[in-house]
Amino acid sequence: MLTPTIDDDGAPFWAYARQGELRIQACADPPCEELRFPPRPCCPTCHSFDTEWRQMTGRGKIWSYVIPHPPLLPAYAAQAPYNAILVELAEAPRIRLVGNLVASPDARLDSVAPDRVRIGARVQVVFTEIDGVTLPRWVLERP
Ligand code: ZN
Repeated sequence: MLTPTIDDDGAPFWAYARQGELRIQACADPPCEELRFPPRPCCPTCHSFDTEWRQMTGRGKIWSYVIPHPPLLPAYAAQAPYNAILVELAEAPRIRLVGNLVASPDARLDSVAPDRVRIGARVQVVFTEIDGVTLPRWVLERP
């Protein structure tokens, strides 16, 4: 499986994920305090470098998704058909995270049938460790 490349700006995101927390970077300069993703040093709204990591509830909705088709990398081909979803966070509708919808935190990528994935479905973040990195994944609020 491919794991993320963790850079200095994104390192806190992955460190919080390891603790089971979904945190999103935010501007710490009032009154702006805008959430932003992916992580970067400077606020795109007010250009402040003051940053904090705000905890999210981990709830969201599927904003869009794809069911990847071959050719796939071998590790992924073995788990096809699987989904890649774009999740709109409940607290931050303009922030969307890419991930996978699975039946449970440690389930295979093909644990949710493609016909069960639909735009607008409510999801909740879960975490699993793969190759030393804790990844956020998503489960349906009402399976
Ligand atoms: Zn700002």
